[in-house]
Amino acid sequence: MNLLLLCSVLLLALQASLLSSSMAESPQQDQTQETYLQCLIDSSDPSSPPISPLAFFPGNPSYSSVLRSYVRNLRFNSSATPKPLFIVTPTHVSHIRASILCAKIHGLELRIRSGGHDYDGLSYVSQAPFVVVDMFNLRSVDVDAEGGTAWVESGATLGEVYYAIAAKSGVHAFPAGVCPTVGVGGHLSGAGYGNLMRKHGLSVDNVVDAVVVDASGRVLDRGSMGEDMFWAIRGGGGASFGVIVSWKIKLVSVPEVVTVFKVEKTLEQGATDVVHRWQYVADKVDERLFIRIVLLPVVRKDQRTVKAKFVSLFLGRAGDLLDVMSQSFPEFGLEPKDCIEMSWIESVLFWSNYPTGTSPNVLLQRIPESEKFLKKKSDYVQEPISKVALEGIWEKMMELKRPALTFNPYGGRMSKISESETPFPHRAGNIFKIQYSVTWKEEGDESLNQNLNRIRSIYNHMTPFVAKSPRSSYLNYRDTDLGINQIGNESYSEASIWGTKYFKANFDRLVEVKTIVDPGNFFRYEQSIPCTSWPSRMAE
Ligand SMILES: Cc1cc2nc3c(=O)[nH]c(=O)nc-3n(C[C@H](O)[C@H](O)[C@H](O)COP(=O)(O)OP(=O)(O)OC[C@H]3O[C@@H](n4cnc5c(N)ncnc54)[C@H](O)[C@@H]3O)c2cc1C
Repeated sequence: MNLLLLCSVLLLALQASLLSSSMAESPQQDQTQETYLQCLIDSSDPSSPPISPLAFFPGNPSYSSVLRSYVRNLRFNSSATPKPLFIVTPTHVSHIRASILCAKIHGLELRIRSGGHDYDGLSYVSQAPFVVVDMFNLRSVDVDAEGGTAWVESGATLGEVYYAIAAKSGVHAFPAGVCPTVGVGGHLSGAGYGNLMRKHGLSVDNVVDAVVVDASGRVLDRGSMGEDMFWAIRGGGGASFGVIVSWKIKLVSVPEVVTVFKVEKTLEQGATDVVHRWQYVADKVDERLFIRIVLLPVVRKDQRTVKAKFVSLFLGRAGDLLDVMSQSFPEFGLEPKDCIEMSWIESVLFWSNYPTGTSPNVLLQRIPESEKFLKKKSDYVQEPISKVALEGIWEKMMELKRPALTFNPYGGRMSKISESETPFPHRAGNIFKIQYSVTWKEEGDESLNQNLNRIRSIYNHMTPFVAKSPRSSYLNYRDTDLGINQIGNESYSEASIWGTKYFKANFDRLVEVKTIVDPGNFFRYEQSIPCTSWPSRMAE
């Protein structure tokens, strides 16, 4: 970089930080905004819709509401949270290209947001001067039921995808997460799992094409981006490689009638034995069956206990489910009265806790009913946990009062896909994944620290019982406790600490792809894949 360019980048970065630190408008701020806006106008395609009404600067009355609309964790919704210099809400691919080029010209970081569900807010927060490209306007879902595929734009929610599929077919579905407001952009680029996983794999196992804008502003599809980049964006985190505009997904077949159940057992009702036994059954049973356990510390009749909530989807009728359960898991004691038959789209509503009879139209609501402060972490379990150890875990949960643990079974199709097929490596050998979760409503540092301590304490307690080499985590359960990029966002050794937990041996291939497709490391953030060539990696 020549000296003149370096000086102008530093000047703009200084202007940028002045702008972000002071929301009061000043002539200097006006001028900076004008410079940015002019850049966006000059860089977008004149035949595309005008970009000016789609760019929001701090002085704009809608800036705050646009920013907050997709903040899904109250931890990052305070006045102290760093704010973007501007937000672009593209309606056309040329607006994405312009945002990339202008962020580059002005030395700004770019955050890409689709549904805003990143647990640690990395799609809309940065310590460096930054801008946000918010994809919510690009959310079309075009289903070809006959061909068994759909093109889905990144700003769509999972609820919108499920709704659109069910509107066209009663025997198709897509394997993805169970929360309807999650965004397609982050979810698919981080792998995406849900209750169809044991039969059909992850979302990324069912992606056949994608459209991406890369760091040079080129619009690429699978053919033009090449198989390496197409591999990387399917689970390696899209935001390290480009802005993903849309995905072509392969629909999967589901029966017209599926069966669900939700059964709760407390410790006094024998939960420990059933949870213990579940570990020997859940990943080996008929792959049409998915039984999740949610474990919560609760108070019953003035006594602390742990409640195990078993939530299930079976891809078949109740009679067949009862047969499978009586053969494989008689200890559970499933009864006909527990089983509810319904269509797949109704099962989506059931899993989202909507009462029976709710219209699928609720899946089109993009904003959750309530927001909370939250922190999550994850682990993988490869050996069943003994009853004594389970009892110790319950004790710890009751002592800490708040953490919830969710056990999601693996096996089935997940075990048949190789670890290197996609960047997501947690395949055969995993019995189940744990999600640790704390949510709270009280504001302030005391509550924040208390809850962060709670989740870190249960996570530490679990060390002996979970995968160790490495202790693994799921990228879509973003956890910055695992480590972040700090040294200029370019250190291989620093990034490999968290990178191998998410990607195991695939981390190295992700670094190689990154080095080729984004050699200037434009797409960088706290957990982006570093761009380092072998010589500089060896020198670290
Ligand atoms: C309530 C809730 C329920 C969840 N349930 C599940 C579940 O059942 N299964 C599961 O697998 N996960 C689940 N998750 C996790 C979820 O999959 C991830 O948080 C996912 O990354 C969210 O995607 P998003 O687009 O909503 O988030 P965002 O915050 O918008 O993005 C997340 C990450 O992806 C990047 N990104 C977003 N859009 C793009 C794009 N277009 N191009 C490139 N990069 C992009 C962002 O920059 C960021 O790094 C859940 C999360 C929440 C909050």
